[in-house]
Amino acid sequence: MAKIIAVNAGSSSLKFQLFEMDNEEVITSGVIERIGFDDAIFTIKYQDQKNKEILPIKDHQAAADLLLDTLIKKHIVSSLDEIKGVGHRVVQGGSYFDSSKIMDDYVVSKIDELKVLAPLHNPHHLTGYYAFKKAIPNAGAVAVFDTAFHQTLEKRCYIYPIPYKYYEENMVRKYGAHGTSHFYVSHRAIELMGNPEHSKVIVAHLGNGASLTAVKDGISVNTSMGFTPLAGIMMGTRSGDVDPSVIDYLVENIGLTMPEVIHMLNKESGLLGISGVSSDFRDVQQAALQGHERAKLALDIFFRRVIAYIGRYFIALGGIDAICFTAGIGENSAYARKEICDLLTEALGVEIDQEANENGQGDRLISTPNSKVKIFVIYTNEELVIARDTKKLLNL
Ligand code: AMP
Repeated sequence: MAKIIAVNAGSSSLKFQLFEMDNEEVITSGVIERIGFDDAIFTIKYQDQKNKEILPIKDHQAAADLLLDTLIKKHIVSSLDEIKGVGHRVVQGGSYFDSSKIMDDYVVSKIDELKVLAPLHNPHHLTGYYAFKKAIPNAGAVAVFDTAFHQTLEKRCYIYPIPYKYYEENMVRKYGAHGTSHFYVSHRAIELMGNPEHSKVIVAHLGNGASLTAVKDGISVNTSMGFTPLAGIMMGTRSGDVDPSVIDYLVENIGLTMPEVIHMLNKESGLLGISGVSSDFRDVQQAALQGHERAKLALDIFFRRVIAYIGRYFIALGGIDAICFTAGIGENSAYARKEICDLLTEALGVEIDQEANENGQGDRLISTPNSKVKIFVIYTNEELVIARDTKKLLNL
């Protein structure tokens, strides 16, 4: 019986899922939030019960220790030795990693080096790594990179049309993100299509962060996020693509500082920025239904930016067999799926099965047999990919 814990360590949070790998069952899952505060929040789900506790947690080490102590106290494991592997989600693997890796000194040093590209993520992944290494030294550790799936992009897709030296000397290029999700969802779609030898799939990962990926024969050929997750389609609070001259204008003429502009583009833009209502899709939809003009405009722009990338990838792939909707909005909003698909009907011959879209459950086809493109809803499962890769690399 091999147990593996999938960990996603952020600046002040630590998400976890503990798997029994013999049957890939999730034994327990949860999140520790507000690490570093006296009122940190520890939420754990176990056997259909959800427990929430507010307590001081001073750092990631204390969070990892608390989590592992709780696993023992609740008899979720009888000994920490049962946990054979820890899989860490790592946002930025740069050009170094095209697959998951055992976290040896080299891998750790590269994750550290890449913190210049992901200052809000990579340092915290390493903090999580050290915390678990100290708490359960006998468990192996594996890094699963958000960027790895997109390492198959060709140079013509990842090079920016700026002086080449910034790529050669400064690592400036498209890396993409959400790779673990795009990998899982595209491969699940290929499985649902009966594992054809050739396939052209677009994954629309529409959550608070959102990106689209074109996947040919199971391989990522292009993706909407870029050097950082700020690029691509509009998101909850991120702008997605804007003319970079807007930045210069705001700094030189309006008096914003550079950090203020970057903060604005990351945290105050997207659905929130246009609607002025919320970054949460449900809130914006609710406001739009009540006639709020800017909420309507925000949704309109959101949908149009999604279809613009679908159009690009239709051309790049030379056709589309399937479009997959995933993540918070993609999995849960029949309304968003219908609005997006309606915009594709004329050009791509997409036809939605209303009943399957609105009332179906789980991973499913929601297009009619007449539709020229299959439309799937697929529930992403990044933690399962992390656990599977950890098992495979550690030979468990
Ligand atoms: P994620 O980042 O994948 O957790 O997705 C978060 C986004 O999903 C938020 O914008 C939520 O409003 C949206 N979302 C979650 N559930 C629903 C739902 N039932 N209908 C519409 N949007 C939803």
